[in-house]
Amino acid sequence: MISTAEPNVAPASALLALDLIRKYSVPGPRYTSYPPATQFSDDLSALRLEEAIAEDNRPDAGPVSLYFHLPFCETHCWFCGCNTVITQRRGAAAEYLDDLAQEIRLTAAMIDRRRPVTQVHLGGGTPTFLTPDDLRHLGGLVHETFTLAPGAEFSVEIDPRRVTEEHVSALRAMGVNRASLGVQDTDPAVQLAIHRRQPLEMNRRAFAWLRAAGFGSINVDLIFGLPLQTAEGFARTIDDVLALQPDRLSVFSYAHVPWIKPAQRIFDQRAQLPSLEDKLAMFGTAHGMLTSAGFVDIGLDHFARPNDALAVAQRAGTLHRNFQGYTTQAGASLYAFGISSISATETTYRQNHKGLAEWRAALAAGKLPVERGLRLSPEDRRRRVIIMRLMCDRRLDHTALSRELGLDFAQAYAKELAGLEDLRADGLVRRAPDRVEVTPAGIPLLRVIAMRFDPSFTTGPHRHAQAI
Ligand code: SF4
Repeated sequence: MISTAEPNVAPASALLALDLIRKYSVPGPRYTSYPPATQFSDDLSALRLEEAIAEDNRPDAGPVSLYFHLPFCETHCWFCGCNTVITQRRGAAAEYLDDLAQEIRLTAAMIDRRRPVTQVHLGGGTPTFLTPDDLRHLGGLVHETFTLAPGAEFSVEIDPRRVTEEHVSALRAMGVNRASLGVQDTDPAVQLAIHRRQPLEMNRRAFAWLRAAGFGSINVDLIFGLPLQTAEGFARTIDDVLALQPDRLSVFSYAHVPWIKPAQRIFDQRAQLPSLEDKLAMFGTAHGMLTSAGFVDIGLDHFARPNDALAVAQRAGTLHRNFQGYTTQAGASLYAFGISSISATETTYRQNHKGLAEWRAALAAGKLPVERGLRLSPEDRRRRVIIMRLMCDRRLDHTALSRELGLDFAQAYAKELAGLEDLRADGLVRRAPDRVEVTPAGIPLLRVIAMRFDPSFTTGPHRHAQAI
């Protein structure tokens, strides 16, 4: 383990080519879906929702993944990009659960409830804004309505500031077996600047409760690029977090999108926010320290211990990507509940209303609370496969893709393959007659490489956060 006594600014990993990241880091989507959510439309008739759900529930349908968005937070962290409802009124959660129960009933009436549920995720917001009793109520709804597969992955996002030992017991009793802790940065000055006071002791306490309750996998979320952060300070954060012995880490780049998240305007971009160079130094430090500590770089911002399910799935070529990031659950239809949540089936994406009032009004009228979405064309579905394989396997196997897509991959995508030439010349990808491989230097730029297969991205102006 790395000592926590001294700041430990590791030299950027030999695998991390900062000059190339600098050269290629342009704003782009994170490809938790393809096409990305920025392409969704509010033309609901084009979605043909009922037809799409029926198609998804044919007799040979695969497993199901469930997501519940629990949006409440007691206070607002100013960097936050999530869809939240800030309140101290506990009763808000119980009212929300009543509406969530209605959404579960409406959806369950349309899907084959015998399909095995292999993954459940409670996200937010702050899921433990709910009282332990509220959580038990939600757990009851999930178990009564759906058929959980043995060994299903059941995960929750935990805010160490807002969790109690009783919450942990309630979560474990409802079958939750994985947790992801929001830490972000352990420096008190950074915490003050982002309006999130979280002494180290809170993180230690949450870890101790979760481990004692038998949580098998614990992830920690960190963010670099926040106000007042430096590479030295971020190294101390990594040291603090490694001392907790997590199984996975997500090291996200802060997305400064004040045109979407007005609270971020409070940050003085020039005086407080690190420059791109500083962010690169932080990412280099994190990458070097985590790989030196034995974590595997899964891709983009995810790191996992070599025996963790994510690292095992990556070696086996079964890694998948969904709205929560990398996952081991390939081929599951995603049914999502709560405001702003996104469901995904073979042929559609559909996103719920982001506003509580609109979501609630649709449910009161007995309608699925969908605000926008996308019906995937056959070409969208082909490109989704290509981008998914690139993001998860870091390679494109021409023969396997030709078989899966039912066409000659190299011929059909000759223009895109030729468009990789600058990346090849810079050593970010390797080309062979039958495959493309992302090199270790190209891994931090996976999304930039994937953009070369995304025509929607290159056809007009799009506003995304910077790739790093
Ligand atoms: S970072 Fe987490 S706790 Fe903070 S406002 Fe966002 S969702 Fe809520």
